[in-house]
Amino acid sequence: RAKERGKNTYYFLNKITDLTHLRHIEIESDLAKSIELNQLLLYFQPRVDTKSGKVLSAEALIRWQHPNWGLVSPSEFIPLAEETGFINEIGDWVISQVCQYLHDWKKEGKEVIPISINISAQRFLRHDWKAFICDIISKTKIDPAFIEFEITETYLIRHEEEIIEAIKYLKQLGIKVALDDFGTGFSSISQLAKFPVDTIKIDRSFIKKVTEQNGDEILAKGIIYIANSLNKNVVAEGVETVEQLNVLQQLECKEIQGFLFSKPVPVIEFVRILEKKFLKPKSAESSRPIINKRKYY
Ligand code: C2E
Ligand code: MG
Ligand code: MG
Ligand code: MG
Repeated sequence: RAKERGKNTYYFLNKITDLTHLRHIEIESDLAKSIELNQLLLYFQPRVDTKSGKVLSAEALIRWQHPNWGLVSPSEFIPLAEETGFINEIGDWVISQVCQYLHDWKKEGKEVIPISINISAQRFLRHDWKAFICDIISKTKIDPAFIEFEITETYLIRHEEEIIEAIKYLKQLGIKVALDDFGTGFSSISQLAKFPVDTIKIDRSFIKKVTEQNGDEILAKGIIYIANSLNKNVVAEGVETVEQLNVLQQLECKEIQGFLFSKPVPVIEFVRILEKKFLKPKSAESSRPIINKRKYY
């Protein structure tokens, strides 16, 4: 009997790995068609003022509606797209969408706020990126100050000169630039001063530690302190609890983004948030981290 059960377990485990394998293969082969098949969409997550809860801006976060696998998380397909180079097409698609939204909202008389876009620094290594951006701005007639590009440290070091040049060009256009997931990459704090970014987004792994009392909080708090001292707009990512919020207020971290105020939401819901203008922390869930019940947000 035990042997039989073992066999069954083996059978099921095999099925699971088959399925994971199938998913991987399908996702890999279908990604290239996701744009033309209209399967990509954007969610938005507000960034709020730490003191007042005022919605200051929002981050556009991509999702892929796959016919067999449902909503696929960017953490699953973005690394793949980075490898194949399809990330550049994705980036252009997101920029066009965001500019179009900003255009439409303004036309509808809505009070718009700046939107940040995750952009792979790879895009700046292709010759046509400046023309693409200038073209889209003039077509949609949006104010470039309503766009911020979030870049991660991945390519910064390897292509330092090109990226610094790109950031300077963007700033000339009036587009803001943020350093995303700060603290997780390889650039040191002294390096940071070289990149003329407007905003530093402190990675969620550090925000998790600010409320600890085992010494781990020292580095996390120090990073926020330094980012502040560099005169950057400092954003805390992944704020989930009121306790974290309290510490961040004490540290004078100006902006926060996280499930405590809002998960990333579809555009219809985001428009409602735009109209409300302020968000309150979800206090019922305050004392413990929010557990992902759904597969993901
Ligand atoms: P990111 O740019 O650092 O975005 C923040 C991620 O943290 C989002 O995951 C968001 O849902 C999640 N998050 C926000 N608040 C909380 C919180 O309180 N708790 C927890 N546990 N998570 C929180 P998402 O949407 O799954 O995106 C993952 C990553 O995929 C992004 O990290 C970004 O690096 C990449 N990504 C997303 N959209 C795009 C895109 O349009 N282009 C590119 N190139 N990358 C994208
Ligand atoms: Mg980001
Ligand atoms: Mg981030
Ligand atoms: Mg990230």
